[in-house]
Amino acid sequence: ASNAVADHDKLSGKRVAVVGAGVSGLAAAYKLKSKGVNVTVFEADGRVGGKLRSVMHNGLIWDEGANTMTEAEPEVGSLLDDLGLREKQQFPLSQKKRYIVRNGLPVMIPTNPIALVTSSVLSTQSKFQILLEPFLWKKNDSSSKVSDASVVESVSGFFQRHFGQEVVDYLIDPFMGGTSAADPESLSMKHSFPDLWNIEKSFGSIIVGAIRSKFAAKGSKNGETKSSTGTKKGSRGSFSFKGGMQILPDMLCKDLSREDLNLDSKVLSLSYNTGPREENWSLSCVSHNETQRQNLHYDAVVMTAPLCNVKEMKVMKGGEPFKLNFLPEIKYMPLSVIITTFTKEKVKRPLEGFGVLIPSIEQKHGFKTLGTLFSSMMFPDRCPSDLHLYTTFIGGSRNQELAKASTDELKQVVTSDLQRLLGIEGEPVFVNHVYWNKAFPLYDRSYDSVMEAIDKMEKDLPGFFYAGNHRGGLSVGKSIASGCKAADLVISYLESCSNDNKPED
Ligand code: FAD
Repeated sequence: ASNAVADHDKLSGKRVAVVGAGVSGLAAAYKLKSKGVNVTVFEADGRVGGKLRSVMHNGLIWDEGANTMTEAEPEVGSLLDDLGLREKQQFPLSQKKRYIVRNGLPVMIPTNPIALVTSSVLSTQSKFQILLEPFLWKKNDSSSKVSDASVVESVSGFFQRHFGQEVVDYLIDPFMGGTSAADPESLSMKHSFPDLWNIEKSFGSIIVGAIRSKFAAKGSKNGETKSSTGTKKGSRGSFSFKGGMQILPDMLCKDLSREDLNLDSKVLSLSYNTGPREENWSLSCVSHNETQRQNLHYDAVVMTAPLCNVKEMKVMKGGEPFKLNFLPEIKYMPLSVIITTFTKEKVKRPLEGFGVLIPSIEQKHGFKTLGTLFSSMMFPDRCPSDLHLYTTFIGGSRNQELAKASTDELKQVVTSDLQRLLGIEGEPVFVNHVYWNKAFPLYDRSYDSVMEAIDKMEKDLPGFFYAGNHRGGLSVGKSIASGCKAADLVISYLESCSNDNKPED
């Protein structure tokens, strides 16, 4: 305990700027503040949360960004405990009931081998291919070649080798559409599923690797896999919070004072002055009414703005421009999110459960959306009891143009898809439309060059740390973990600076 107090004292005079108040920036700020560091957050928008945004309106509650998250990362569990958010956690009713469209109709996704055998989501041949994957999987011919983007393996290539094309078309394609708005052909396997990528390296077969890893995790008796509530980490699957996801960013910044949390403050430039490693950073920002401010003297910067925004910033190092032209152009997936409500009697074939995903290949039956969450089936408090509330996603790599369509057009598209899937009759009672121009960065097959550029920025700029969903995963949990990791690196950096600057005895 005395060491912890000493560390706290050592860090208490230190000042860190965090750019971006999405979950990654706020998780970093929370962790730094809990260690006694003075943190100042700069957020371009007038609110906190970034891609998390919940709205309450006339008795309805919906999420316009992330709808649920998981607790697979240990950092998430610790934060939920520390923030007292366990009592607000809301687990979806029948969350294991998830649907895929096959031949124009929703079919439940099998969640265990027995359900797989009886399910109609895949043909008998594909079922055998899954069960026999330990014997049938094929090696990647190009894995020995140099890491050139043209031979970097795609998500579809990887799953094709292990499970065949039908699994790619009916399970992987809709899953990628639903979690990253991208198509499996463009995505890099290494960056999209690093765990499975490594499992193949160690075990060859994914099934064998997954079973062995599960047993290894069960066998570990060090308690690390348990959270403070005693539940196994992530074992209860996806969740939200009472009132929606917004409570997470709101709680993460509750201890930041008005001076510590600068909303409507878009960072335009950063400057690093070489010299003794203390307070070498300054930054300037601008508000919507064009008021510019110069904020001086930080020991380190945690950058969590999307890389396309970082590329626009002016960076100086030792009085000279530090050009960011080595940052590659990143592709982003556009997405529209449409919230609709229908009176219950108009929904003739309602489905219980989480939601339905539509494989690209099913577009031949006239579907245009990526999928729909059954929001009020999962969380009945999201609307009055005589209504159903649905959250539908449109666009992504599958349909980039349609993502930009007008609210009226998208209302028709959603109503038509829901009519086929759930037997809905008539028009929605209520419609809300949100367009995310850059919903997700695309982890494409040249993403290694992005990771290298991030590493270069950090290496060339002492005290600069990058976190967020452009690094290590797109999910809320992965973004939080990335922010927490950056905070740990900042703390080690600040401690090493204090040691460097200590006068010799
Ligand atoms: P962001 O949330 O993008 O935060 C970055 C912040 O930086 C923003 O607030 C931005 O305004 C700010 N900023 C940018 N430029 C500047 C500047 N110059 N100065 C100051 N601030 C700046 N994940 C899940 O796990 N589950 C889901 O169900 C899910 N659904 C999703 C649905 C949608 C529609 C979207 C868009 C995403 C979804 N995600 C989901 C992904 C997840 O929400 C995001 O990846 C995650 O929230 C990203 O957090 P972040 O802090 O890295 O980035």
